[in-house]
Amino acid sequence: MSDPSEHIVIVGAGAAGLMAARELARAGSKVTILEARQRCGGRIHPLPASQFGYAADGGAEFVHGEAPVTRALLREAGLSLQEMEGEQWRFDGTKLTRERDDPHEAELQAKLADLKDDLTVADFLRRHFAGDNYAPLRHSIERMVEGYDAADPERASTLALRAEWMDGGHAPQARIEGGYGAMIDFLAADCRRQGVTIRLGSVVSAIAEEGGAVIVRCAGGDVHACDRMILTVPLPLLREIALPAGARAKLAAVDDIGFGNVIKILLRFARPWWRERKEDLADMTFLLSDEAIPVWWTRYPDQHPVLTGWFGGPRTAELESLDARALIDAGLGSLAAIFGLPRDHIVRELVASAATNWAHDPFARGAYSWATPRTRAAQAILARGDGLVLFSGEALYRGRDMGTVEAALASGLETADMILRGQ
Ligand SMILES: Cc1cc2nc3c(=O)[nH]c(=O)nc-3n(C[C@H](O)[C@H](O)[C@H](O)COP(=O)(O)OP(=O)(O)OC[C@H]3O[C@@H](n4cnc5c(N)ncnc54)[C@H](O)[C@@H]3O)c2cc1C
Repeated sequence: MSDPSEHIVIVGAGAAGLMAARELARAGSKVTILEARQRCGGRIHPLPASQFGYAADGGAEFVHGEAPVTRALLREAGLSLQEMEGEQWRFDGTKLTRERDDPHEAELQAKLADLKDDLTVADFLRRHFAGDNYAPLRHSIERMVEGYDAADPERASTLALRAEWMDGGHAPQARIEGGYGAMIDFLAADCRRQGVTIRLGSVVSAIAEEGGAVIVRCAGGDVHACDRMILTVPLPLLREIALPAGARAKLAAVDDIGFGNVIKILLRFARPWWRERKEDLADMTFLLSDEAIPVWWTRYPDQHPVLTGWFGGPRTAELESLDARALIDAGLGSLAAIFGLPRDHIVRELVASAATNWAHDPFARGAYSWATPRTRAAQAILARGDGLVLFSGEALYRGRDMGTVEAALASGLETADMILRGQ
């Protein structure tokens, strides 16, 4: 067992950091969280309800799959979930149609079921689905890997994504009433109730081990001493913090874990004009296309007239130079093309908007991690409990839905348990 009088510093007040803090504080440890931003939540980023008409999310929005840790936390917080319903549509450059299964779907499922050794998604497609007749299947898988997983098909692990595809992408998805922000508010309040100190605006720049203690230095000059610490910063930021030799030696493993980017755009309109355009679209949720901002979704079954645009994966680098205003313009242009409407017609209806290229966020530098064929081995190195500085966060989760809030919460719990068991 660990010594309950230990002082533990956690870097990052995102889902992983808050969850680990709460667990450790409940067991009697003294816990301090150092958070660079002026708010908790990290990649959970609530937007003002006054702006969008509901508690909108500029970062994480959906609860994917079974998510047992998330669902248990939501029950504890008294927050309910709204399961997703509705239809998926596709725009092929000329017309809008309901999404249908690819004619080669059964063949894809059979090849996935037979897969023994891992290979990248691109190699998997070249090996089994090279012919011209498979071009639409290849295109839709590549777009899914880039868009949904924010991953590069040339590096992404087929085995890691297999479970996602084998249920045809039909795993349950839900939204939290009150958004992910309500869950973070509950967790942060519970942390404080358990005695956790949360210091906002504390950018950690260096960590050193001196005489059996850990010394943490912040950019503003603050210094904190503790017995152990947990680093939950997103992968790209790990190399920006000076670390003691033991922890630094593990960082080579980071190169074997993918980290993708997402651009997310929220547009609130005066009216749900797309439903007036085409009656069938009344129950549309997702809409896929090859436009500059390719994926869109509605709030269905809620009736808020908001469309959310999404662009994920390596090709987001093509929009690197666009600021929020230009991203919103690109989104409006994509909608005009998809719905065959003059841009001005859509612009006239716009009430509120927000856009984030997460690669530009200084404390995220992207959206979330994804698995390469070497990721499991890399995670095993990074998640080891040796040394005084431990790593935690969504990228270290070894369960099915990597890169999610569930992954972050579960990883935070696992790291706290490791400390409490004295490992
Ligand atoms: C646009 C977008 C959409 C997403 N959609 C979904 C979704 O629908 N469903 C889902 O489950 N997941 C989604 N995710 C992923 C999900 O948000 C993350 O996996 C999860 O929130 C990560 O939690 P974390 O605690 O590991 O990291 P973070 O939330 O990033 O927390 C780390 C914290 O460390 C802080 N930090 C960084 N550097 C320093 C420093 N030097 N000093 C001090 N603090 C520092 C950061 O500010 C941050 O608060 C989405 C992510 C994005 C960006």
